[in-house]
Parts: sequence; C-alpha cells; structure tokens
Amino acid sequence: MTTLSINGAVKRYPNGALAVKGVDVTVEQGELVVFVGPSGCGKSTLLRMVAGLESVTEGEIVLDGRVVNDIEPANRNIAMVFQNYALYPHMSVYKNLAYGLKNRGTPKEEIDRKVREAAKLLQIGDFLERKPSQLSGGQRQRVAMGRAIVRDPSIFLFDEPLSNLDAKLRNQMRLEIKRLQRRLETAAIYVTHDQVEAMTLADRIVVLNQGEVEQIGTPAEVYSNP
Ligand code: ADP
Ligand code: ADP
Repeated sequence: MTTLSINGAVKRYPNGALAVKGVDVTVEQGELVVFVGPSGCGKSTLLRMVAGLESVTEGEIVLDGRVVNDIEPANRNIAMVFQNYALYPHMSVYKNLAYGLKNRGTPKEEIDRKVREAAKLLQIGDFLERKPSQLSGGQRQRVAMGRAIVRDPSIFLFDEPLSNLDAKLRNQMRLEIKRLQRRLETAAIYVTHDQVEAMTLADRIVVLNQGEVEQIGTPAEVYSNP
C-alpha cells in the first residue's frame, strides 16, 4: 500500500532558486526510503514539502490518498525527528511525550498507556521523571523519537537525526531506528548525506543531485552501479 506519493514536485524559493526540479517518489507502508546526496541537492527542501513546512511550487504531495499541498503541518499525519531534538527543556520526559496528546484532548488513561508503551520500546522507561538536561545525547534522541511515535503517524520524517551524536552512538541509534521502524511498520523518509547510513538503513535509496533524482533503487542496486 502506498503511503506517500510525491508527484512532479517542484520548489522555487521566493529568491528564484530552483531547489527541486520535478521529483517523483513513492513510499510504501512499512518502507524506509533514504534521500541521499551532496549538500544543497534539495533533500531538506523535499522533506519539508512533505511535512508542509515549505509550500509546493508545482506538483502534488499525496499522503494516504489525499492531496495535502494545502493542509497545514499539524493536520498532516506525519511526525518529524530532527537532530536538535526539539524537546521542551522545562518538562519531564513523561510530559514531553504526553504533551501533544494532551493538547489533542486524548483521555488520560490512553496518554499514559501510549507514553509507557513508547518509553518501553525506546528503553527510556527509567527516565520518565527526568528533565532533558539530565539525559545523555542518545537518551534525548530517544525521547525525540518517542514524541514522534506517540503521534501514530502514517510516516516518519527523519532529517539527519543522528548528526549531533558521536560515531559509536550514531551506529547504535541507527540500528535502533531500523528496529523500531520495522516493528511499527510505519513508512519513513530518512535524509542524510552519509552513504553508510543510507546503505544500512534503506529499503530504497533516492539519490538526489541538483534538485533532480539521479537514481532510485535498493542499496545494492545504487551502490553496485558506477
Ligand atoms: P540539502 O538538504 O540537500 O542540503 P536544501 O534542500 O537545503 O539541500 O537546499 C537545496 C537548494 O535550495 C540549495 O541550493 C539551497 O541553497 C537552496 N535553498 C534552501 N533553502 C532556501 C531558502 N529558504 N531560500 C532560497 N534558497 C534556499
Ligand atoms: P500536538 O499537535 O500533538 O499538540 P505539540 O503541541 O507537541 O503537538 O507541538 C506543536 C506543533 O508541532 C503542533 O502543530 C504539532 O502538530 C506539531 N508537532 C509536534 N511534534 C511533531 C512532530 N514530531 N512532527 C511533526 N509535527 C509535530
């Protein structure tokens, strides 16, 4: 089942810069698609168009069969995970995880169940009362992922989420993301400039170059062809 179709997406910024030049990509349910390519090739722009953080100049973003071009980010069924965590510093881990659900009027018992489920999946159940400042980088990254998971999104959007971590932790978290995404069977887009990350994570890789798709395929297909 197709979760996301990006159909002929074009992005021209107000200053005239043509950042994305007619990209077609689909992401199936449960599939993890990595966008890779050099700095400035349009990865973030494309991801931000899917998220609704940038307008689409031409083309369509179709999520769960619905054109979402004019739908604001909060009303798209997406969850983003950034490198800079976006945690609320003054709130405990529990409250960070619960906040969005609470705002949406989710019943207390359901919030509690979802928060504890996500915390268990992410192995942060022992830190629920701590503030973000009392956590390690890896733990903070897990909380950021927990915030995404409790939203029950159709698709996770990862924008270089591990680039602030050291190499060892990055490897560990990368495996963790893969495990979680498999287990939850949620579609995902993962943006990185790191080929190793792309190879180890991706079901399919989209190689972008100067706003265009240069190649799409499995890691084996993409990295065996010169
Ligand atoms: P990547 O994520 O692959 O590094 P980006 O999507 O950030 O690439 O950028 C793609 C192109 O669009 C680059 O040439 C960049 O300079 C340009 N760009 C990005 N954001 C803006 C903006 N707000 N205004 C004008 N040009 C932008
Ligand atoms: P909620 O909409 O669940 O109440 P918050 O109040 O925590 O979310 O966050 C403020 C805004 O950011 C809302 O518009 C929400 O939809 C959006 N948001 C929060 N977390 C994420 C996320 N991980 N990915 C995408 N959007 C998010």
